[in-house]
Amino acid sequence: MRVLILGGTTEASALAKLIAGDKRFEPNLSLAGRTASPAVPPIPYRIGGFGGWEGLASWLKAEGVSAVVDATHPFAARISANAVKAAEAAQVALASLIRPAWIAEDGDVWIAVPTPEAAAAALGAAPRTVFLATGRLELPVFAAAPQHTYIARVIDNPGDVPLPPRIEFIYDRGPFDAAAELRLFTGHGVELVVSKNSGGAATYGKIEAARALGLSVVMIERPEKPAGHPVMSASEAMRWLEERYESHVASSSERGV
Ligand code: NAP
Repeated sequence: MRVLILGGTTEASALAKLIAGDKRFEPNLSLAGRTASPAVPPIPYRIGGFGGWEGLASWLKAEGVSAVVDATHPFAARISANAVKAAEAAQVALASLIRPAWIAEDGDVWIAVPTPEAAAAALGAAPRTVFLATGRLELPVFAAAPQHTYIARVIDNPGDVPLPPRIEFIYDRGPFDAAAELRLFTGHGVELVVSKNSGGAATYGKIEAARALGLSVVMIERPEKPAGHPVMSASEAMRWLEERYESHVASSSERGV
């Protein structure tokens, strides 16, 4: 059974590992192409957009895909909206991997904001040292708050885009544990943290480190993300695929295929 996994996350990589070598499935992992050298997956993969929901629907039909797992990041709302529309148009089953949001605990000081632009505004007028863990694409909005000194952790260089005048890059990719984050914040004199509410364990260390140091976190809340059948983990997604496989085999034998 042909399967498309929309990826770019820890969960998509975990699902790729689970499905690799399973003779029931012919999986294909799709990456947007945002990082210059992504980790090589253990299953066939493709890189780049499909051309909107219509392009995705055509691709699903042309490739004979029977099931799609949307395992994209909670902030990747456009591809998920496209997946819902395309799956409906192509009559393909869709499951969506839901990663629960982080919830503030005792000791957390969060300033909730709806967008990166609002995060830049929430940093205040007084100059501070700010840790940015939003990802490279959101960095230009912080040019609107040039009074601060930024420490930005990114996978790739942001390239030729407007940036605040004082910004230092740390090139790294997760997971990041709390002890290392605490050393990083202390070493750089970080006074404020900006984060997306991504959820999951891989990048939670910065939230724990901020709590331990009594730092405020400007927390960018999640966008609306359309979804198909909800699954909560890679192994639940795998079980859903196994169920789809059973009905795929049953309907193929009914049709005498
Ligand atoms: P997005 O805004 O939802 O999608 C923008 C466009 O990028 C889509 O319309 C689609 O182009 C293409 N696209 C996105 N994900 C794709 C995928 N897995 N395979 C093929 N094309 C894809 O997405 P985004 O927020 O830029 O995220 C891009 C990728 O980075 C996703 O795979 C996501 O899981 C990963 N990621 C995102 C974040 C984040 O904070 N946004 C963080 C970590 C990882 P077409 O319309 O041409 O098909």
